[in-house]
Amino acid sequence: MAARASCVNAVSERLERVRARIAAAAEAAGRDPHAIRLIGVSKLQPVAAISAALDAGLEDVGENFVQEALQKMDALPDRTATWHFIGTLQSNKARDVAGHFDWVHSVDRLKVARRLSAQCRDRTRPLNVCIQVRLGDEPTKAGVREEELGALAAAVSTLPGLSLRGLMCVPPPETDPQRQRGWFRRLRELRDELATRGLSLDSLSMGMSADLEAAVAEGATHLRIGTALFGARH
Ligand SMILES: *Cc1c(COP(=O)(O)O)cnc(C)c1O
Repeated sequence: MAARASCVNAVSERLERVRARIAAAAEAAGRDPHAIRLIGVSKLQPVAAISAALDAGLEDVGENFVQEALQKMDALPDRTATWHFIGTLQSNKARDVAGHFDWVHSVDRLKVARRLSAQCRDRTRPLNVCIQVRLGDEPTKAGVREEELGALAAAVSTLPGLSLRGLMCVPPPETDPQRQRGWFRRLRELRDELATRGLSLDSLSMGMSADLEAAVAEGATHLRIGTALFGARH
């Protein structure tokens, strides 16, 4: 009981602090904080931590690993959270992802998008997807290259069962806020370029614990926050 109570307190205090950071960043940018969704990223965190965050008012949960996420969903059966898949997506997991998640942020190949689409026939609502873009010169990182984004976005936007909502990035780590903003600005510009070609997307999934202020300043609509909310990962 005592351990659970302290977990609930720690998470709810951290949630308040993160919300205050978002509110301050939104105010500085002249933005409405309600236009920014906070996704609590709970990979490698216990179910009790997610439960505590939901009790404290969190509405969106992000997970990176399919099996881990499904186990957690089973352990939280009566919860109404919105679930976001943000990890590396393998096509053989498309059925589980389409069947259990509301959003997928990490689409970076047409093959995976087609598999997801094929698994979405039974859904009553389309699966919301973002295309993950690889910014910077990090060849091992996930994400479509900037040069290939236009073609992939055009193709994904036509797939039944999917609703292409936006772009996502995990930029190279930077400590300087101006450099952080530079990456996020780039993602926003890519979104705006797609709009000039007739593909308007309403979401920018960008910003994590260390750089959420920079992301909010550049127009983030979805922040993916792990350690600032749940503490260090186990
Ligand atoms: C783990 C993870 C996060 C959260 O990172 P923190 O630095 O702990 O906030 C966000 N996005 C993705 C894609 C992740 O894998």
